[in-house]
Amino acid sequence: MTSGEKFFDRLLGRPPEVPIQTTQVPAYAGLQIDLDALGRVLHIHGALRHRLVKHTTAQQLVPLLDYLCAHSAVVIEGSPADWQGQVLDLDFHGFAGSALHTRGWLQPQGDGWRLLLLDIGDLLAHRQQADTRERHQLLSAQISERLRVCSLTRLPEVVQDNLHSIAQHFQVPCVAIALLDEQDQGWQVHSQYRAFDAPLLWRDGQLLGGALDSLGGTAPVHLTHNHGHSEHPRLQGIFGNAEGFLVPYRDDHGVAAWLLCGFFHAEDAFARDWLQLAAALAAPLLSRLREQRHQQQLDRLEALQGLLGTGWWELPNHGEDIQLAPQLQQHLNPDAPTTRLAMADWLLLFHPADRQELASRLQDLQTLSKPLSTSVRLHRLDAAHNPVWYRVQGQALGVGNNRRLIGFMLDISDIKNQQQQAAAAHARLDNLIASAPAIIYVQRYVEGTLQPLFFSDSLLPLLGRTLAECTPASLIEWLHPDDRDLYFERTRQLLREGSVRSRYRVQDKLGNYHWLLDEAKLLRDDLGLPVEAVGLWLDVTEATLAAEQVKQSEERYRILVEDSPAMICRYRPDLTLTFGNTPLANYLECQPEQLPRLNLADWLSDEQRASFVQRIGQLSPEFPVSTAEISLQLPGRAHAWWVWSDRGVFDENGALVEVQAVGRDNTEVRRSQQQLTQSAKMATLGEMATGLAHEINQPLNVMRMAIANVLKRLSSGEVQIDYLSEKLQRIDTQVQRAARVVDHMRVFGRRSEIEQQPFDPAQAVEGTLSLLSEGLRGKGVDVRLTPAGFTVQVKGYVDQLEQVLINLMVNARDALLSQREKQPDLRPWIAVHSEHDASHVRIWVEDNGGGIDPRLLERIFEPFFTTKPIGVGTGLGLSVSYGIVENMGGRLSVSNGEHGAQFCVELPLA
Ligand code: ADP
Repeated sequence: MTSGEKFFDRLLGRPPEVPIQTTQVPAYAGLQIDLDALGRVLHIHGALRHRLVKHTTAQQLVPLLDYLCAHSAVVIEGSPADWQGQVLDLDFHGFAGSALHTRGWLQPQGDGWRLLLLDIGDLLAHRQQADTRERHQLLSAQISERLRVCSLTRLPEVVQDNLHSIAQHFQVPCVAIALLDEQDQGWQVHSQYRAFDAPLLWRDGQLLGGALDSLGGTAPVHLTHNHGHSEHPRLQGIFGNAEGFLVPYRDDHGVAAWLLCGFFHAEDAFARDWLQLAAALAAPLLSRLREQRHQQQLDRLEALQGLLGTGWWELPNHGEDIQLAPQLQQHLNPDAPTTRLAMADWLLLFHPADRQELASRLQDLQTLSKPLSTSVRLHRLDAAHNPVWYRVQGQALGVGNNRRLIGFMLDISDIKNQQQQAAAAHARLDNLIASAPAIIYVQRYVEGTLQPLFFSDSLLPLLGRTLAECTPASLIEWLHPDDRDLYFERTRQLLREGSVRSRYRVQDKLGNYHWLLDEAKLLRDDLGLPVEAVGLWLDVTEATLAAEQVKQSEERYRILVEDSPAMICRYRPDLTLTFGNTPLANYLECQPEQLPRLNLADWLSDEQRASFVQRIGQLSPEFPVSTAEISLQLPGRAHAWWVWSDRGVFDENGALVEVQAVGRDNTEVRRSQQQLTQSAKMATLGEMATGLAHEINQPLNVMRMAIANVLKRLSSGEVQIDYLSEKLQRIDTQVQRAARVVDHMRVFGRRSEIEQQPFDPAQAVEGTLSLLSEGLRGKGVDVRLTPAGFTVQVKGYVDQLEQVLINLMVNARDALLSQREKQPDLRPWIAVHSEHDASHVRIWVEDNGGGIDPRLLERIFEPFFTTKPIGVGTGLGLSVSYGIVENMGGRLSVSNGEHGAQFCVELPLA
């Protein structure tokens, strides 16, 4: 009998063919128990007896029942006789709480019975394994079936149920399935179940970290925990530091899921079954999840397509019909009943202007596989003003019979319309920039340099250059050599300070230089790094040249002013100097810098100042210039005369702001004039000598007669007091008269006062006559004086006016006397009268000497013009007189009257 047959016999509960000899006790591999009739154990033999728990009370017979596990009691009810002929499966108490599973039968043995038993523990184990495996398989099948068929919405619930089933079947307190998270980066508890009294090890969605990756993932792993020591300390944490069991699930890409069982230990024998179970759970779960994700994506895509007005289209390789996504079909052709369209009908949906192009590009896609990308308008009569634009793109996929043409259409009306508006605005802006007199430019920042990127179109008309010509090197070349440093500094400053304003010369294509005003700003990115410079070139050539010219002419004028022999200054209306040139400074014996702040008034007498201020006050924008001779009293210096010309500068309101003055020292001229006047005066005196002699002679004669008469009386002895005193009185009168003449002569002969004084011109007439009248009368000239009858004041020098009148009367006398030689019966006279109006007084001196030859009238005021014989006339009288009258602001004029010459001295009233 082979061991295999024996095994089957045992399995089937067949008694062995050859009964064991009752008399001898062979070394039996099983268990042989002798019992008495009551079923009490008499003796135990066989190898298995050592595995039984021994009963120490050996004196008493122990019933077989005491050796057996509780559930075996049912098998041996009653007495052994009842058990005969039956297969008996008995489980004995083994060591350490284990059980010894046996199968045997009873056979009579003497008065008692012999129980022959074989160990069937391994058989049972096998069966149990088979059972377990079957349960595994059944459960696996159920699980994957449930997962496969459930709806996606119920999927989480079904996963829960499945975990629950696993927990129940295998008595696992905590069970969970962990999957890779969405980003495939770490493990995450997808779903978990725990028995109601089990501790909470995991939560749904909990991240487990990378500890799981340290496991191979090819076989289940047990986590054992002995006295705080563990092989996988990090994993142990996940399992609450208790026992754990992890089952991997691998797919094509590696480990895709872990089944986690907490507080659980599976037998190694079932490793494969657990793998299978994990696979049954994870594989369909993952697939369903993928399906779910796919579905979500489809939903999203559909929503997106709906929102964007986009959708796919597909054209089979050789087909004529085009398939459209439902949303797209809704947009394009809502009335069409189907999403399939004939190609020709599809093309008809587009605007005729775009149709041809689209058809041609589709052809290229079909035949050459050239990717299609174009924008087209829909052909809608109602949308003429606001066209609907679509972007159509397509490509060929696959080869041979699998070749398909697919693409999408996207509604880009918004973008397109905006683009068109932007393009229009851009064009307008371009136009504006191009027509601006400025060049707008952009320079890109490249490693510390700025390189031309853009120039507005105005570059061409201004410099004759194009953007293409503007390389960094050529730009430097066009710069004026003198301005290159300026340009480099401009770039440095721009990079340093972010903005710059500079001016330099750039050559145009024809070789002419343009002054460009450059204003640039640096644009930076979010990090503050320079990106580009935007700037403006303004052609300021004309302005710059004009400014240059102004500067040059200013310089010329400055030199002119400085080098001029004339004294030039500027002063404020209060007579404070603001500027004076070197000649003025030299004159005043100071430095030009000391001139400002000096005041002109300091050098003027009160009178002069008053008239100066009055004169300046009369300046107006219409009559801005005034000239006068002013006299100055410079401290410690001789009296000076300046011919002074003022020009007023006015503000926009016509108020005087400043006066620019040019002066010339006239002192020398003045002095010689004075000397001339003086000599002329002396000459006059000389000429008057005869008259004067007569003037003095007259009283002398009177006195001589009176003295002679008195003497005659005295000698005749008839002297009466009255007579004497009358004669002496006459003499006294004559002495006084002579003294007056001499006095006046002395006064007249003196030099004139320096400053003009107001006086009554009648004074001068009186003085003249006091000197001349007697003399004239002596010569037989009748002096006819018409008394003025008014008093007025003129300004000047009374002696000089007297000199003028003397000249006129002496000239008249000479003319009369020479006339009388020709015409002895002439009764010569000189008439003097005066008149005045609001502004002037006029003194007329007229004679009956026959007048002046009209041809000479114009020349008589010239110096040294005389018709008198040499030694008699000087020719100075009238010219000096003219100067004197003019100096007093008046005018000396002559005309021929009825009888002779008529001179008129006209003087302004003071
Ligand atoms: P002078 O008397 O020394 O000649 P003036 O300058 O005084 O010099 O006069 C210039 C000339 O004008 C005189 O020579 C004379 O010919 C002419 N003249 C001046 N006064 C008269 C007058 N009253 N009648 C005629 N001729 C005159």
